[in-house]
Amino acid sequence: MTTAHNEPAPLDPQDWDAYRALAHRMLDESIDYLRDVRERPTWRPMPAEVRAALSNEPLPRAGRGDAAVYEDFLHLVRPYPNGNIHPRFWGWVMGTGTPQAAMADFLSSVMNPNVGGLEQSPVLVEKQVVKWCAELMGFPPTAGGILVSGGTMANVLSLAVARQRAAGFDVRTEGLQGTHPKLLVYASTEVHGWLKKACEFLGLGNTAFRRVPVHADFTVDVDAMAAMIRDDRAAGHRPFCIIGTAGTVQTGATDDLVALADLAAREQCWYHVDGAFGAMAALSPETAGQVRGMDRADSLAFDLHKWGYLPFDVAVVLTREDAALTDTFSMQAAYLASESRGIIAQTGIHFADRGIELTRSFKALKVWMQFRASGTDTLGAHIARNVQQAHALARAVEAHPALELVAPAPLNIVNFRYVPVAEPGTPQPDAAALDALNREILIQLQERGIAVPSGTTIHGRFAIRVAITNHRSRAEDFDALVEAVVAIGGELGGGMPTRA
Ligand SMILES: *Cc1c(COP(=O)(O)O)cnc(C)c1O
Repeated sequence: MTTAHNEPAPLDPQDWDAYRALAHRMLDESIDYLRDVRERPTWRPMPAEVRAALSNEPLPRAGRGDAAVYEDFLHLVRPYPNGNIHPRFWGWVMGTGTPQAAMADFLSSVMNPNVGGLEQSPVLVEKQVVKWCAELMGFPPTAGGILVSGGTMANVLSLAVARQRAAGFDVRTEGLQGTHPKLLVYASTEVHGWLKKACEFLGLGNTAFRRVPVHADFTVDVDAMAAMIRDDRAAGHRPFCIIGTAGTVQTGATDDLVALADLAAREQCWYHVDGAFGAMAALSPETAGQVRGMDRADSLAFDLHKWGYLPFDVAVVLTREDAALTDTFSMQAAYLASESRGIIAQTGIHFADRGIELTRSFKALKVWMQFRASGTDTLGAHIARNVQQAHALARAVEAHPALELVAPAPLNIVNFRYVPVAEPGTPQPDAAALDALNREILIQLQERGIAVPSGTTIHGRFAIRVAITNHRSRAEDFDALVEAVVAIGGELGGGMPTRA
């Protein structure tokens, strides 16, 4: 739409009062949506007509107006999320979000500052948030840090720092094209998939990732790691980084972070800890002991959008020395040079010099507001409660004759499965049939909207996996899960293929 003088239609509202009324409606209906989340199914499949409407719409060259598009959102988009704000969502590892932080995201969008740096309050807010995070994780006040989009990005940046600091040559200048020894990084077979991606992305190559075996409790075998490092050095390679995990994605195991710190010190390797969700155990005195030694890391990566309960996306990189970040990422560009006064004074491009992005959003605001509004002790209490819920669920599984724990549940993840109680004269399902039965139970839990765990395979056995990073879950939700698994298992049990 254009005006008579060929002026484009303004992107600001033409009628601010009408816009205010619509915006108020959006806000009111959003608050109802959050308040009533428990009454909705955890997840519902998209009807074919919704899928079609969202997939094949022609490019909207002419606008429909704000009100019409909001109606479309209400009918096509809002009813069909993956469900992670629901009290009975425990799939993969996803946070719930909070109403306070949702509003903070809105306020941040309204301000819309560029937090690459510059002389402005949002930069100080993010610096403050980084300092608080360092304190929570037991890092010194001189630590450096930056907020990024997620655990993957936080870990990738950390590995880039490790490479720059511990390669033994200047990777920024020389790259990895030279004749230097092969750089190797050590982590357990249970490390999250980011590491494979990162080794490929950073030009180290997948073979630079040395996969170290784990003990029965899924923590890394530190002696085996030490032996691999010794052998690799003898073969002329350069071990440069040791990675420990605080809370593995599969079972919630935490490596011996003290022993790994000692090993890294002995071997003069960079010590990185992936604490994507597990690092948050540090927030409660009840669970902090599980991540002992994490504070000795040279770099630590963790999400706030998983077990920090904040909305996507926000994660943190911390480095023991701030210079480690600037050594790796700072750039000098004429168009970004600092002045002694004005908008680019003092702080320069503080955050663009500590990461890979130049223009950055004000994601720090939701952290700053949530921490101040609820207090980090309250967040810690929710984390401790999630651990208690996991332990209670594990006990309920062990106590039930038709359920079986598939892995230890030290933190907030429970892997279990349904195993029909043997009746005299009826054959027990074989291994493949048991896997198929549990897959079907999982899918029915999701499709019936009862709850959303996810699935995994541990030691060749399919397990229903419950990862609790949810401040809305209550004891009754886990009772409902157990009840439903047993009920669906019972319904299906007879019809499943069994060994003759
Ligand atoms: C989720 C996860 C990651 C990746 O974090 P994203 O925020 O999904 O990018 C890395 N490591 C572990 C242990 C995780 O659980």
